[in-house]
Amino acid sequence: MIAHKLIQPVLLTLLLVCAVTAQAQEKTAPGGKWKVHDMDRPAPKQIDPGTTSTQDAPGRPPSDAIVLFDGKDLSQWESKDGPAKWKVANGYMETVPKTGYIHTKQSFADCQLHVELATPAPAVGESQDRGNSGVFLMGLYEIQVLDSYNNRTYADGQAAALYGQYPPLVNASRPPGQWQTYTIIFHPSRWDKDGKLIRLGRVSVFHNGILVQDNVEIQGPTVTGEPDKPHADRLPISLQDHNHPVRYRNIWIREIPPQD
Ligand code: MG
Repeated sequence: MIAHKLIQPVLLTLLLVCAVTAQAQEKTAPGGKWKVHDMDRPAPKQIDPGTTSTQDAPGRPPSDAIVLFDGKDLSQWESKDGPAKWKVANGYMETVPKTGYIHTKQSFADCQLHVELATPAPAVGESQDRGNSGVFLMGLYEIQVLDSYNNRTYADGQAAALYGQYPPLVNASRPPGQWQTYTIIFHPSRWDKDGKLIRLGRVSVFHNGILVQDNVEIQGPTVTGEPDKPHADRLPISLQDHNHPVRYRNIWIREIPPQD
């Protein structure tokens, strides 16, 4: 009798689980193509996620990343008027003032971009004139690079700001000379074939692992401050020469699917 009393709730629970599972399998997953829990749905591709960087050494990029700078040479980069002229030494590249922006030879659109940077130590100058550079998505939209450690400037121009549009949610800067990371998730604006805007671009940024831009809408090119307008589907990424010797290392990108 005691055993019977115990078994009954267990059986009922099992029946309930089966019923819920069966019901779930009848449901259609988002997108309409697959059932919920459908075993025929293709498994995501297995990748090696790589390793995390330390101050002493860059980590290993994920196996499906396109490596844009591995510390050895600028073979993936060029400048407006020829080869990239930035310095490469000891596993990093460094802005050589007045040699101009550099940009990737390849063009990109929707992406996850990993960049590591270090501003000059000891710090020189103040406000915007201190460790200034920038990561320009599609060469148009700047995620600001600046020494923002104990360095007051306008909020929408400090480190990890979408320049002139959105300050970072917090200031997650490390002291000058230390390696810092930007993890950028970017989806560009979309226009229809007649040039009518379908949706503005969006960007999220993690600064040293901290979410500082949460899927914000990019209003347009950060240099002109004008509304976004149609451009090529894919464009190079550029790094800014702002006359300060900012260092970069371990730059890689993963192309990701566009969003509706
Ligand atoms: Mg800048």
